Amino acid sequence: MPAAVEFQKVSRHFGPVRAVDAVSVEIDEGEFFAMLGPSGSGKTTCLRLIAGFEQPTSGGIRIFGESMTGVPPYRRAVNTVFQDYALFPHLNVVDNVAYGLRIAGKGRDERRREAEAALELVKLPGYGDRKPGQLSGGQRQRVALARALVMKPRVLLLDEPLGALDLKLREQMQEELKDLQRKVGITFVFVTHDQGEALSMADRVAVFNDGRIEQVGTPEEIYNRPAKPFVANFVGSSNVLAPEVTERLTGRRAHASLRPEAVRIGGEGRAAKVLATSFLGTTTRVHLDMEGVDLTALLPRGAGVPRQGEEVRVSWDDGDLHLMEGT
Ligand code: ATP
Repeated sequence: MPAAVEFQKVSRHFGPVRAVDAVSVEIDEGEFFAMLGPSGSGKTTCLRLIAGFEQPTSGGIRIFGESMTGVPPYRRAVNTVFQDYALFPHLNVVDNVAYGLRIAGKGRDERRREAEAALELVKLPGYGDRKPGQLSGGQRQRVALARALVMKPRVLLLDEPLGALDLKLREQMQEELKDLQRKVGITFVFVTHDQGEALSMADRVAVFNDGRIEQVGTPEEIYNRPAKPFVANFVGSSNVLAPEVTERLTGRRAHASLRPEAVRIGGEGRAAKVLATSFLGTTTRVHLDMEGVDLTALLPRGAGVPRQGEEVRVSWDDGDLHLMEGT
């Protein structure tokens, strides 16, 4: 079975800027796939390349095995939910949702029926007669989703769709989006710079940096076995140890990642001095100097917190010190 979306060495350059640089990746049918990375790393350009709003400078894109070279956006089996939702302010909710169906030439009754089914799907039944201006941000987000889903795309592209919502609503929508994706069963490709969002929702995550994909994997793989220092730093926080330090600790010369929550304080271990502690609510962060190496530990609530300046012992399980390639 062909991949839902396949990038074959795709580059998109804008003059000297390599927005997307030789990206190859396959997104499976039915997958919830996140493109994660800092601002300017090329995620949105990748999404626009799938949608057909941009053309590759080189390389090719296939959607369900079919080459997209020369295929305009409206002929692709994809639909996009934009960050600003792009709703028509003068149209009511039903007409907004049904807009694409009208353009496609569907009759009035059929449009209404399908638009209402889509509104039901996003848990917004009965809001059809309102104008977008009479809705909350979260409700507008749902209308934008309904409008994209009503066209029955095989791939739904979402560009930071939760970016405009406050934290509580964003967390609620994360769960709902995941449920919705399971229910409709289509491929979601989701762009975000929020690692928590990517980890909590996606089946697989591609971590972008500077127009390239540094790693593709499940949230667990990305978090527990980051391939490169960039991934270890960007996804969660980590103690990234320089090759000389890793060599001193393990005998092997490579960068290594040690998650702060894996560092224990007390009992046996290496000598370290507490430089600072910060109470974070559910955890306490402890900044340590371990024989000249900067180390952060994250202690769970209820663990004994050492004092600033205290000499302590630190340890971790061997498996938690994860060796990486590259720089
Ligand atoms: P953000 O999270 O800020 O949207 P992003 O990871 O989605 O960032 P892109 O929008 O894909 O990044 O941009 C990647 C790079 O390409 C950036 O340096 C950007 O300035 C550049 N770029 C994007 N579109 C254009 C364009 N139309 N013309 C020139 N440069 C562009």
